[in-house]
Formats: sequence, structure tokens, C-alpha cells
Amino acid sequence: MDLDYRLNEIVFKIKKSGYSLTPQRLAIIRIISESKNHPTAMDVHIKLKELYPMISLNTVYKNLAMLASLHEVKEIKTMQNSTHYDGDITAHGHAICENCGKIIDVEVNKLDIEDFFEAKINESLKESYHIRNYGIEIYGLCSGCYKKRLTAD
Ligand SMILES: [Zn+2]
Ligand SMILES: [Zn+2]
Repeated sequence: MDLDYRLNEIVFKIKKSGYSLTPQRLAIIRIISESKNHPTAMDVHIKLKELYPMISLNTVYKNLAMLASLHEVKEIKTMQNSTHYDGDITAHGHAICENCGKIIDVEVNKLDIEDFFEAKINESLKESYHIRNYGIEIYGLCSGCYKKRLTAD
């Protein structure tokens, strides 16, 4: 997706929701919308400090929580109980390693999901429901951790 388009989209949503747009906030949005590796607040903080050495980790947490509440970032929790953030809010799933916490994007076919939904979910809800977005989380071992486990036994 076009990064500037995505950035403008978030900025528009923030203004519409009545939040002010400080340079620090814009920098956080830029970092999260450009990131491809599902960073933690700590990761974002490290990057941000290159621009704003005085900024606190708490400010980063607050801004990411605000963006999550506006549905502009996705929160992903690992088994290690750390929270990662995804600036890519297009429909996709995540394969999460239970051992090292690595998060891998998984492409999902929108039509498959909608077919599944129509066939199984709407029936059990006994009413029709309109999907806006969805997340799929798969837990297991990444290839590196799986290999290590095999050699350890
Ligand atoms: Zn792993
Ligand atoms: Zn993702």
C-alpha cells in the first residue's frame, strides 16, 4: 500500500477524532506505518529517540494505545505476554512462534473467509452479520525453533 496514502489516512482519522497532531505523534505514526516487522513499543521508542532523544516510553505506549483504539494499528500479543503493533491493518493473519515470539504475516484469501463465514458463522448466529475486518492468529513454532527442538531431543 502507498505509504503516504496510509499516513494521510491515519492523520485524517486522528484529527477527526479530536486529537492534536504533535510532531512526536506524527513521528510515531510514521514509524509504525512504515514498519513491516510488528515492533513492540520499546522498538518504536528506540527508533523515535533518534529524532526526539527526550521522549519517554510511556508517551509511545499512550500513542500506540490511542492508535489501536482508533483501529489504525493492530495489537498482537505473544505467549511471552509482550504486545506487538502492526501498522498494516489490511486483512491478514499472523503465525506466532510460541518459543521466540516471532510474528510472521500470513496472507488470507478474503473470499475464503467470507464463504466460511456465510456457511458456518451466520448459521450459528441465527442472524446475518456484516464483517468489517478480521484477524487470524496461528500459534506454533517457527522453523528455526522447530529445528532446534528436534536436535535437542
Ligand atoms: Zn521461534
Ligand atoms: Zn501483520
